[in-house]
Amino acid sequence: MIDNSAQVEEISCKHVTAEEMEAKIIRQEITREQTYLSELALASFNKRKKVKFELCGTLLSRLFYESSHIFTHLNFVAKRKDKKKLFFAEIEDCGRGREEILKVRCCVPLDSLCEGGYYYYCDDPRRGCRKGFDFTRCYGCSEFLKHPVDGSTYSGGHDHRRRNYIV
Ligand SMILES: [Zn+2]
Repeated sequence: MIDNSAQVEEISCKHVTAEEMEAKIIRQEITREQTYLSELALASFNKRKKVKFELCGTLLSRLFYESSHIFTHLNFVAKRKDKKKLFFAEIEDCGRGREEILKVRCCVPLDSLCEGGYYYYCDDPRRGCRKGFDFTRCYGCSEFLKHPVDGSTYSGGHDHRRRNYIV
């Protein structure tokens, strides 16, 4: 048996602050494209809520394909009046690889409980896959990327057949 208790603990539904995430996540090399996606998501959130958050930095980003859709899930930190918040965003590229048509599908602060991704709990294709979607979780991301607990908030990552996420 592999001891996966640390992974299970990382996924588990809990409150994670922006400061905790910043301390824990060793920032990957964040590309200009990823920063751009965070800015795009935050701009849509600011407009919708009539607020003015400023981007502090992108922490994690994961791009995956799902049934010919291209999604990016992001965690970034933004601040307003010196208070930092951790955000989750989902961007869909609707250009299908031919041109880039980016749509912000979701952008929410993770104020209350959040949950990591279940990528390592996808069905193993060698065992034969059960068809289906699980709209409560994200199977496209690893345990470190935090999502809203209500899986219906975002569109991608719900197909738990692993082969869909090999990019
Ligand atoms: Zn995800």
